[in-house]
Amino acid sequence: MNGGIRICRFFGFEVRLDYSWFVVFLLVLWTFAQSVFPGRTPGLSVGTYFTMALVGASLFFASVLLHELAHSAMARARGIQVEGITLFIFGGMARIRSEATNPKDEFLITVVGPLSSALIGGILLVVARVGDSLGLHRAFVDVAEYLAILNFILAVFNLIPGFPLDGGRLLRSLVWHITKDVRKATRLAAYTGQGFGYLMIGFGVLSLFRGFLVSGIWLIFIGWFLSQAAAFSYRQLIMRRILQGVQVQEAMTRNPETVAADVTLRDLVDNYFLVRRYSVFPVLDSDGRPLGLITLRQVKEIDRDKWPTTQVSSVMTQICEAVTVRPEDSLAQVLTKLEKAGVGRALVVQDGRLEGLISNADVAAWLDRYQQLH
Ligand SMILES: [Zn+2]
Repeated sequence: MNGGIRICRFFGFEVRLDYSWFVVFLLVLWTFAQSVFPGRTPGLSVGTYFTMALVGASLFFASVLLHELAHSAMARARGIQVEGITLFIFGGMARIRSEATNPKDEFLITVVGPLSSALIGGILLVVARVGDSLGLHRAFVDVAEYLAILNFILAVFNLIPGFPLDGGRLLRSLVWHITKDVRKATRLAAYTGQGFGYLMIGFGVLSLFRGFLVSGIWLIFIGWFLSQAAAFSYRQLIMRRILQGVQVQEAMTRNPETVAADVTLRDLVDNYFLVRRYSVFPVLDSDGRPLGLITLRQVKEIDRDKWPTTQVSSVMTQICEAVTVRPEDSLAQVLTKLEKAGVGRALVVQDGRLEGLISNADVAAWLDRYQQLH
């Protein structure tokens, strides 16, 4: 999830807001102002409720951010690279580069999230009590108290022992520690995640029959999301593990068709794109060294009148900006690099020589063949 808007850096972690976040923020704001605070503390003005909602919603998202920061800081302390944090529709997500390589790291990185939520909840509860005894405004006391409750809920919900929630990760690290088998541990945590998801859906349906429409729909929605996420995370983890053990040279296109840097775009379209079945070509200099990559899309962006006089070298992606990998890199590394750069293919280069071309489609095709054989 690299989309969204970058808002700030926090202790060296880049914080991003996914676009879905804005919808949720408005929804939370509206719920707080319309029903939560008027219900909890009646008799205040509309303006006061709106201010309470604005402060409350901001504090809520700050709480989610702190939870993710705790995960990120611990991951970094255990030597795992963290790119940053993204806040999105279901809360937050730390963009951690790689999985923990041992159960102890996994446990530590995970446990600090719910712990920090519980700690924030505790602090806010104290603030509310002290504020109350000092006779501060009811609005202040109520916002602090309600945010304390939300942080406790955040801690407890995240402790549901189903992967990919924190509780599922804790369960996984314990089973991993006992059995020494990460695959088995992940499978168990994913199954419990799916189980809890189905349980929530079941309770949701029951609530619907009992006439609790809104909470029923919410339970079904969250349960469905949890069971999907559990199954998806498991598949993804297994896939990553397989791809970590496969080298680029096993899946790449060898000896790809190339084009010289001084060819014109007109020539490129007529004699390459339209004649051969590729929509991308590596660009080589006269000594056969790779200079970059030219795609059909890049050519389409140039005015047709200029095609006869424009050379490939002035339009292509330069090699320093293109994604390059080595033949012995793992497919997992390639996917990470491509995802980060937001492009679909990489040049495979060894000692300044072009060895091949590898794309997301090549990796997918390799996986497909692998799965047919296993
Ligand atoms: Zn967490």
